[in-house]
Amino acid sequence: MDARPRQRYHAGAMFVLVVGDANADLCARLARFPREGDDSPLAGLDWQSGGSALNVATALARLGGRARLAARVGVDPAAEVALDAPRRAGVALELVQRDPSLATGLCFAAVSPGGERTFFSYRGANVALAGVDAPAAFRDAAWLHLGAHALIEGPQRATALALIDEAERRALGVSVDLCLPLVRGAPAEARAIVARAAVAFANERESEAAEAAGVALGAARVLVEKLGARGARVCRSGQGVGVPAFAVEARDTTACGDAFVAGFLLATVRGALPEHAAVVGNAAGALTATRPGAAPALPSRDEVRGLLVERGASEASLL
Ligand code: ADP
Repeated sequence: MDARPRQRYHAGAMFVLVVGDANADLCARLARFPREGDDSPLAGLDWQSGGSALNVATALARLGGRARLAARVGVDPAAEVALDAPRRAGVALELVQRDPSLATGLCFAAVSPGGERTFFSYRGANVALAGVDAPAAFRDAAWLHLGAHALIEGPQRATALALIDEAERRALGVSVDLCLPLVRGAPAEARAIVARAAVAFANERESEAAEAAGVALGAARVLVEKLGARGARVCRSGQGVGVPAFAVEARDTTACGDAFVAGFLLATVRGALPEHAAVVGNAAGALTATRPGAAPALPSRDEVRGLLVERGASEASLL
């Protein structure tokens, strides 16, 4: 089945509504990994916007699309860190809620001298996302995208499910980017969303976990597997097509998957077939791999267009 929206939308005029986590990402370079109780100096420290849904919304806006983020942060300094990148990119933030008591979600990455990353994460205010006003959320919206963390637990899950119902009532496309905690911890939920979504995205670890948990990703109308330096694979109607990556010198692959999803969705709402949308996704992912960090590494429209033109890809016309 075709994953494209049922109408052709005026290019760039319609919003993608993005639901999921908004975090502050704290990245610390360790001189050595501490033992419990140590007082350990850091060799470097960096604060950035993060969270998969926030990154997708930011990437969409940087690529020249329109994105509206439904997420919840706290009333704390980390909220300003989280919202900095989407605000600068021009993401519509009127649906972002402030939780009076829970802290903004945080992901603390401790990077050992050898490059190994140890994560400490707190979902905080994300889980408390309360119901959003559907007319405001879907005003001029062409598509609903969910970061799968939104489906794990709490009021956020109920809100996400209500938004999926509403998107279906409005005959809008729904996509989901799977995550390990959902696939491993709530496989029935993962199965249900894969069956409902027009497009399901999974990286290699998520595909393996889905197989182990009995979640048949092939049930998705369009399944897009993100394959790192090998690019992507688009499966629909039982047929899989490989879409090769753009060769780049990769430095840090954080947020590559989010950039890929944004490029894919922007091309999709502009009427591209999934195989072409994956080329735009690959270009956005490849550029993100060349730079350190998450949100600050996300490429602009001109950068992605430039790479597509340089490599002779006709999909440049989509941007
Ligand atoms: P995730 O970040 O979700 O784990 P991947 O690591 O598969 O997803 O990366 C997403 C996309 O980014 C890939 O499908 C590919 O298009 C691009 N990408 C990632 N790593 C590289 C790389 N080393 N070289 C070129 N493109 C890359």
